[in-house]
Amino acid sequence: MRFDIITVLPDLLTSPFAHSILQRAQKKGIAEIVVHNLRDYATNKQKSVDDYPYGGGSGMVMSIGPFAACIEALQAQRTYDEIIFMSPDGNTLNQTIANELSTKGNIMILCGHYKGIDQRIRDIYVTREISIGDYVLSGGELPAAVLVDAVTRLIPGVLNDETSALSDSFQGELLDAPIYTRPADWRGHKVPDILLSGHEAKIADWRHEEALKRTEKRRPDLLK
Ligand code: SAH
Repeated sequence: MRFDIITVLPDLLTSPFAHSILQRAQKKGIAEIVVHNLRDYATNKQKSVDDYPYGGGSGMVMSIGPFAACIEALQAQRTYDEIIFMSPDGNTLNQTIANELSTKGNIMILCGHYKGIDQRIRDIYVTREISIGDYVLSGGELPAAVLVDAVTRLIPGVLNDETSALSDSFQGELLDAPIYTRPADWRGHKVPDILLSGHEAKIADWRHEEALKRTEKRRPDLLK
């Protein structure tokens, strides 16, 4: 699977993909993540990518020209399943969307800045708009990193233990159960006996019960 991310701040996207699971996915050749500097596609002398808003008001607006040039250069090389604009007014990202996107081949992601991007970019090129939550960030880079992480870890072969993604919260209708590691006794705070019993079926039952309790308490909306 390939991600092409278009941004004015490529440096913001170096570290998030250079560690742990995301790094491994790229090393294994399962995911390719390519970051493009929008400024390379600016044609004016100042290499500017934004301008004043028509109709007045505060905040700069990202211009259509550089985005169009970058998007079209990429489209000339391959077909994209989705061109996603990260935007607070898009569909809120959830595990269902992440699962769906993890089956795609090529995804382009546009990061906005300032007041946002010229509406015509959204009308002409964008196939999907995704928000990472009801709050406003300064740019689309962190949201893009969140999206790429959530999607990449679901691609088969990325996680070492395939079942680990399946038992995660939101994968089914239950949140994840409580987890523990050594020591079995920390200053009198003990790990539940059942987890030390070695009895796999009973442990599975216990985990299911605990997951259910936690979901009922914290997220009853998830239970059908
Ligand atoms: N004026 C816009 C916010 C602009 S914030 C509005 O009110 O909707 C600048 C950019 O940051 C956006 O274009 C978007 O790309 C990104 N961004 C900010 N918050 C985001 C969120 N919650 N989810 C996804 N992208 C977000």
